[in-house]
Amino acid sequence: MRGEMSGTDIKSLSLEELTGELESRGERAFRAKQMYQWMHIKGVESPDEMTNLPAALREWIKERYDFTVLRSVQVQESQTDGTKKFLFELPDGNVVESVWMRYKHGNTVCVSSQVGCRMGCRFCASTLGGLERNLLPSEMLEQVYAVGRATRERVSHVVVMGIGEPLDNYDNLVKFIRLLTDGNGLHISQRNVTVSTCGIVPGMRRLAGEGLQITLALSLHGATDEKRRLLMPIADKYSIAELMEACDEYFGRTGRRITFEYGLAGGVNDTDQDAEELSALAAPRRCHVNLIPINPVRERDYRQSNVHRIQAFKERLERRRVNVTVRRELGRDIDGACGQLRRKRNIVN
Ligand code: SAH
Repeated sequence: MRGEMSGTDIKSLSLEELTGELESRGERAFRAKQMYQWMHIKGVESPDEMTNLPAALREWIKERYDFTVLRSVQVQESQTDGTKKFLFELPDGNVVESVWMRYKHGNTVCVSSQVGCRMGCRFCASTLGGLERNLLPSEMLEQVYAVGRATRERVSHVVVMGIGEPLDNYDNLVKFIRLLTDGNGLHISQRNVTVSTCGIVPGMRRLAGEGLQITLALSLHGATDEKRRLLMPIADKYSIAELMEACDEYFGRTGRRITFEYGLAGGVNDTDQDAEELSALAAPRRCHVNLIPINPVRERDYRQSNVHRIQAFKERLERRRVNVTVRRELGRDIDGACGQLRRKRNIVN
């Protein structure tokens, strides 16, 4: 069934699994490697393009496996910074969005991990219609490959910060990361992959033990349980103390600094006291704080902090020796806030 792990979804198979499949048909191992390269390095849209494979083998693949390809149904390009936002149609007709951003350090794709989301964060557009289903590893990979096909540029960084809660789709997420960073595939460096979570503690702890060198970003948004509960229902389930323990475990086991994401909403979580409380969490830790001016969403009544407040908030953190940056707002003119494009389309259609 679509949306569940499916043995017949060929792009979700590791090279070892693919080799096993082909060997059971009596094929030699190098055929699996060729096929894997077509799918994961060249990003072909059909087995027909695998020109160094025998035609009979290509036909066998088409009959036997799902060959997941995403179709771009809408692209918006920012007039100010070149950011591109893609709306992709999945094989079952659902749509998700992915964003392509150009930074000094390389081209980044922001990937969705679910169709919709069930976390209910009160400032976020992605969760308004609830969760539809999980994305397969292949459907996450295809977002990266399809953006690469469209832009004809190399992707060096991937952030799982699009629609959905990645740790609510844990197994598919980890499989996706292993395929994405595999030396036989596109081979994106693990250090260039970031997974952002609203703070599912058991998932964070499990991720710490995967032996991966990826960056974990925690969407904090409030520095006390009370404040966080105003913004994020998940805060009713896990306390900040538990979150900090999980972050410390992640750093302890991987040596990777945590990123704390903190969206500034005017008059809600942007006072001097909020900055001091955030410093108390961040200063003792090897972490990085990313301040995000909240992107106003039509259905939500939060507004952005003004530029002076953002600056003052940042300076307070700096005085406490916290490593802090303010996120550049790329693609603001094209519904940059997560989930807005998909939502618009679903309402219009
Ligand atoms: N579910 C994951 C990843 C997806 S959201 C998470 O919660 O981290 C990616 C980031 O965008 C999160 O930090 C999220 O809190 C933030 N975000 C969501 N809506 C936003 C908005 N309207 N303005 C600014 N940031 C937003």
